[in-house]
Amino acid sequence: MMTTVALKFGRRMNTALRSSNLLYRSSSSFLLSANFLIQIPLTRKMSTDAHNIASQLNSSGLLRTQGLIGGKWQDAYDGKTIKVYNPSTGESIADVACMGGRETNDAISSAFDAFKSWSKTTAAERSKLLRKWYDLLMAHKEELAQLITLEQGKPLKESLGEINYSAGFIEFASEEAKRIYGDIIPAPQSDRRLFVLKQPVGVVGAITPWNFPLAMITRKVGPALACGCTVVIKPSELTPLTALAAAELSIQAGIPAGVVNVVMGNAPDIGDALIASPQIRKITFTGSTAVGKKLMAGSAETVKKVSLELGGNAPCIVFDDADLDVAVKGTLAAKFRNSGQTCVCANRILVQEGIYDKFANALLEAVQSMKVGDGFSEGVAQGPLINEAAVKKVDSLIHEATSKGAKVILGGKRHSLGSTFYEPTVITDVDNDMLISRQEAFGPVAPLLRFKTEEDAIRIANDTNAGLGSYVFTNSIQRSWRVAEALEYGLVGVNEGVISTEVAPFGGVKQSGLGREGSKYGMDEYLEIKYVCLGNMNKD
Ligand code: ADP
Repeated sequence: MMTTVALKFGRRMNTALRSSNLLYRSSSSFLLSANFLIQIPLTRKMSTDAHNIASQLNSSGLLRTQGLIGGKWQDAYDGKTIKVYNPSTGESIADVACMGGRETNDAISSAFDAFKSWSKTTAAERSKLLRKWYDLLMAHKEELAQLITLEQGKPLKESLGEINYSAGFIEFASEEAKRIYGDIIPAPQSDRRLFVLKQPVGVVGAITPWNFPLAMITRKVGPALACGCTVVIKPSELTPLTALAAAELSIQAGIPAGVVNVVMGNAPDIGDALIASPQIRKITFTGSTAVGKKLMAGSAETVKKVSLELGGNAPCIVFDDADLDVAVKGTLAAKFRNSGQTCVCANRILVQEGIYDKFANALLEAVQSMKVGDGFSEGVAQGPLINEAAVKKVDSLIHEATSKGAKVILGGKRHSLGSTFYEPTVITDVDNDMLISRQEAFGPVAPLLRFKTEEDAIRIANDTNAGLGSYVFTNSIQRSWRVAEALEYGLVGVNEGVISTEVAPFGGVKQSGLGREGSKYGMDEYLEIKYVCLGNMNKD
């Protein structure tokens, strides 16, 4: 059975579908998924042929609303469901299984059983299956992008970018699977031989957020599987549909039952079950610092390996000697991508006094030209925020800043498009003590701080507990090197606003996290190092 839970539409939607004869009366799973998909072109006036999309998604079986446990799609054991909303319209788009501790324990058992055989497969076998998964993700790129825009809100173009980026982690992992080498160490005694083996850590619990519904999963699951680990994924309850579609494609790729499991619903219950289980040997988490700390503390009980990718407070430093055009374009990308909802989004824009006014005006012009709207509309550069709470937070940070002397030069209020939309905002005269400089705004607001010297810039930039993304704009090679070394951050973009890629290590210092994702370093997070000593080798 494909889905047991009906997908929901608002009344407006059903009327539109009926009038175009596209709302089928039958409640078979085929038609439910067809209805779900047809709404995209109909309501968003997309040029793509509605029938093609519907039949494509139906035949690919990408619409899933149940959890995946041991290769079987499962409802919550008590039948509970949770609604998924389109953040742009507020309409509920699906009811998905709302699972908890019991389902999670079963998923852990399945992953534990599957680990016995998956960890014994050859690197070449795992590589081939991961490659197949990558190929399928790319083959279904358009549909997956539509799902992301539907449940997360980002502009369709950004969603397509996320698919490429996400699939890249699976492709990289499929290649890297074959390069998990050990070592032979020259022995200090002539009758000994010393080896280092690298072995999969075991069953992994992967907890992911809503801002990149696919990428945050692939960059954990790709390397985990490549190393021979099995996983229990808990996607955000706000964006589970993309995760479930990706899991469906993992099955279609031939990845054995139990290797990839997905549970979603009651986050604290699921988290507690993952933490309590001695069979989970590794927790990998992307999300808020508060939840990350809880998971880290809980993992101490069974001494699990932990990777955390937590909040940032990214400085974007623009020096007098920067190329203005490069700095504005880079800042725009670093700040407003995904409506400002990434953990590496520029949170504080530090501008040197000589270029401050020119930069502020140029940034204002660039931000002003950004079209705000539904993610499916043509030319939209900024969609909604994930929910109203996010809008409230941005609004209150801006109010606190203006009450202390900051000036709004653009935006600064909710957008007339609806309760989840906020006007792209630029504020000047911000200082580093205002809340907007201390907390992660996670929204479309660019706060400009003024600084005098390079030393000032470094001091202000490092004056935070976070240390994830940072950006520097300068035309001096010496300064770029000096500042990059001085910044207490895991990532530094020099004259670039978007630097994340599967081939480079991503991760933070200080309270922004532990461990790295992507690149060869991201593989190490899923491996144990075993030392083997062969003794008495001179005896026959
Ligand atoms: P955000 O503010 O980005 O939503 P969260 O840390 O709240 O960050 O959410 C990130 C992920 O952590 C989501 O999948 C969410 O469901 C999950 N989560 C939230 N609370 C807990 C918890 N107590 N235990 C485990 N996971 C949790």
